[in-house]
Amino acid sequence: MRPAELQYTRALSVEDLGQLLRRGDGATPMAGGQGLMRDLRGRTLSVGRLVDISRLTELAYVREDGDALEIGAVTTLATVAGDPLVTRRCPALATAASRVADVQIRSRGTVGGNICGSWVPSEWSNDVGVVLTASGGQVLVQSSNGQRTVAAAEFTGAFENPLAPGEFIRALRFGLATGSGYVRLSRRWADSSIGSAAAFVDEAGGRLRVGLAVGRIHHRTAALDAVARAVEADGLDSASVTAALQDAAASFTVPDTVQADADYRRSVLPVVVRRAVREAMTNGGLR
Ligand SMILES: Cc1cc2nc3c(=O)[nH]c(=O)nc-3n(C[C@H](O)[C@H](O)[C@H](O)COP(=O)(O)OP(=O)(O)OC[C@H]3O[C@@H](n4cnc5c(N)ncnc54)[C@H](O)[C@@H]3O)c2cc1C
Repeated sequence: MRPAELQYTRALSVEDLGQLLRRGDGATPMAGGQGLMRDLRGRTLSVGRLVDISRLTELAYVREDGDALEIGAVTTLATVAGDPLVTRRCPALATAASRVADVQIRSRGTVGGNICGSWVPSEWSNDVGVVLTASGGQVLVQSSNGQRTVAAAEFTGAFENPLAPGEFIRALRFGLATGSGYVRLSRRWADSSIGSAAAFVDEAGGRLRVGLAVGRIHHRTAALDAVARAVEADGLDSASVTAALQDAAASFTVPDTVQADADYRRSVLPVVVRRAVREAMTNGGLR
């Protein structure tokens, strides 16, 4: 199907983007267009004006800033997957970016577009968002009125994001830890995820600190704080971790899809979480 009629404008600078989005003519940012064009063609979404932000080099960067790894919103997934700083400081993110779809989508698709999600009901909970949530990360949001910081957990996947009219994502800030890991299960490599988990681990003064999130099991990206506290207190193989994982699985709303039914999705939760924590411990040299 063709998209409904719309206007197209290329933003020339971040300042220009702020002005274009405040005009109130249904202006919507388009970064790589990989999710948006599908949504427009399927008419699950219509917009008055597409504002192309893909060439805003001001928003394409990777840098370490204090205790965070900051990535400009229009940095492509392919760039992130291959970036030496990301690979060294946040291997979970490099893995997640390298697992999104296929090489064509990763070459155009961006980290900002990835966390915004899609309007297609079968798509929810994106790979980069799971890592950002587990890291306790933040999203830098901007408009012509200024900038604000939003907790990653508010970007939960499909159908909802906390952006107000006129706002756009400037950058993603990932919390850093000694070790991080990302595990994603799918039938074949590039198939949709059946379930994924990201883990961040740190050890300071002999005390373990853990951040955990899970994707595509619950109907939205979910932080697993109770499971993380149980890992910190009793270790990964403890009965308290098993109980916390069971509680999480029981509390989740789990969709059936063609890739896996709800029971199967629930059953992979402990598998992906434990694998992600082990990978994070190994990457961080903590065992
Ligand atoms: C066939 C297929 C397979 C896919 N497989 C996966 C997968 O395995 N894992 C996964 O995580 N995702 C998957 N996706 C989703 C895809 O990866 C993401 O849609 C893509 O990363 C989006 O990035 P983009 O730059 O192309 O965003 P766009 O398509 O340009 O935009 C997507 C949404 O984000 C908004 N947006 C984009 N940038 C900004 C910004 N800076 N500020 C405010 N709003 C913004 C747009 O307005 C739009 O609503 C798949 C998509 C397709 C079509």
